[in-house]
Amino acid sequence: MRAVQRNLGEAQGGSESTMPSWAPAEAAATREQLRASAGATPWDIVVVGAGITGAGVARDAALRGLSVLVLEACDLAFGTSSRSTRLIHGGVRYLEQGELGLVFEALRERHRLYATAPHLVHPTRFLFPSYAHDRLAPWQLRVGLSLYDALGLFRGHLHRYLRPERALSMEPLLASDGLRGAVHYEDAITDDARLTLTVLQDARRHGARVLTYAPVRTIHVADGTRAVELCDGTRITAKTIVVAAGPWTGPQLLGNAGHELLTLSKGVHLVVRHDDIPVRQPVVVQVPQQRRVLFVVPWGTRTYLGTTDSSYEGDPGASRVIESEELEVLALVHRVLPGARLEPARIVSAWSGVRPLVRAARSARARDESTVELARTHRVLEPHLGVFAVVGGKLTTYRSMAQELVDRVCEHLGPAWPTSRPSIGPCVTAIRPLCIGTPLTPDELADPLIAALAPRHGPVARELANIARQCSDLAHPLVAGLPYRWVEVDQAIHYEGCTHLDDILRRRLPLALTDDRLGGAVARRIAERLVHARGGSQTDIELELDRYRDVITRETRRTPTF
Ligand SMILES: Cc1cc2nc3c(=O)[nH]c(=O)nc-3n(C[C@H](O)[C@H](O)[C@H](O)COP(=O)(O)OP(=O)(O)OC[C@H]3O[C@@H](n4cnc5c(N)ncnc54)[C@H](O)[C@@H]3O)c2cc1C
Repeated sequence: MRAVQRNLGEAQGGSESTMPSWAPAEAAATREQLRASAGATPWDIVVVGAGITGAGVARDAALRGLSVLVLEACDLAFGTSSRSTRLIHGGVRYLEQGELGLVFEALRERHRLYATAPHLVHPTRFLFPSYAHDRLAPWQLRVGLSLYDALGLFRGHLHRYLRPERALSMEPLLASDGLRGAVHYEDAITDDARLTLTVLQDARRHGARVLTYAPVRTIHVADGTRAVELCDGTRITAKTIVVAAGPWTGPQLLGNAGHELLTLSKGVHLVVRHDDIPVRQPVVVQVPQQRRVLFVVPWGTRTYLGTTDSSYEGDPGASRVIESEELEVLALVHRVLPGARLEPARIVSAWSGVRPLVRAARSARARDESTVELARTHRVLEPHLGVFAVVGGKLTTYRSMAQELVDRVCEHLGPAWPTSRPSIGPCVTAIRPLCIGTPLTPDELADPLIAALAPRHGPVARELANIARQCSDLAHPLVAGLPYRWVEVDQAIHYEGCTHLDDILRRRLPLALTDDRLGGAVARRIAERLVHARGGSQTDIELELDRYRDVITRETRRTPTF
């Protein structure tokens, strides 16, 4: 194990262009330093929350030269940012709501992500059929997708209209009864948790410090100074504070300004074997009587389905899939893909997330309004001088939200500040690659091991494959039929900031979402590696396993068996 760690370090560590270590010991050291340095020079910016929004803010600020500390209550991407539909998209359905500005912004960000994160954002053609009973007729889809192409400035593949027989030949699983036509159009698929990790890794590479499992209890603002207080009592001073706590953004962190800020909406996804729903491309399903759609997305040897949209109250971290939601999703998909095997017993796993939607100003009406109709736009507010919050938005638009926010932070820090710190530059995130290293060549990608690792690690797959080859056990799949390799477990422990077993098996290598046994067959061996890396005991291994069983059973309604 130690040899592997050294190899990873040699392959990746050491310079600004490589991957800094992010092992359990790092967290302990950062925590100790923060305690010891309470009252020292304030950070330029303390970010509360390490979802995609906080990650984007941290990276942008670090790249501009600010000193940045990110404090996260749980694991990075623990909240909504590991529970989305995993699309980088303009959002065809927002056209119906007249949200043209949002669609334009999201399509521009999609285009940028193609260039800056090519291994994580995959352009994909979606099939959007229209049936006799559907709200949107083929002509409406054609008009809508023409507008979508225009708002995307005609970049990428433009949409195509397909007659029923052509749509059926492209997707034989489609119901033929009542099919009036379909459109084929481009959007993109990502891995939400890994996108968040990659953004944070780049922030760390540029000097940001990130501390997970460090919940912020309160924010103090008095006499022109600002501080956050962690639940363990540590007090950290900052020139500016950014609350990026997603659905947790409320009065606890923002005081009165946090009341009535958000409406929460829950969405669930189901995972089945691809053999059970063998779609050839993502299929868009129209939901009757609602202005929304549901996606059926092929995911390697799995297919996932989602999502629902219903109002939610309570702790966003405790949202879980319930039986009636499973039945609702299966029934909606059955209308369009009647030949698929859609019995509840075929569900492998599931996930549940909570959208932080900006509450409309006309709050009396907004309370009664369906969450489906609420806009997905974002809002930046400054409830106290130097304390900012950013809420709403989408995974897709995280970068532009971060840019807007960090511009505001820079304004607050003062006009004299750029000259007093000449190293501070403008926002560069629109063009700067998120990943390090020379892109993989087609020859390298022809290697099955590199090809298995590349979708999650990009160019770093080259080094991981070299390490795995020196110790062939590391090249083995964690479980048969899924792409994850043992070398990635060590990478997750030493370079991807994992503290608990569910960090690894839910958010870094999502066996909890894809494996028949929810990672149960390998959980003990992985827990041993993790606990040994942080110098823990046999009892700690058992505690990790218990915690994993509880967390995953609560979210998915399925229990991993060890
Ligand atoms: C079902 C569903 C499907 C979606 N699909 C898509 C999609 O396909 N494409 C798309 O673009 N968008 C999608 N979205 C929207 C997108 O996922 C969210 O907009 C985005 O992930 C929100 O990120 P965030 O960082 O603001 O919040 P979060 O990811 O929730 O991050 C907030 C973080 O703050 C932390 N935190 C909370 N309180 C504290 C505290 N006191 N101290 C420290 N840390 C704290 C939390 O632990 C959490 O990690 C979807 C959302 C849902 C729910």
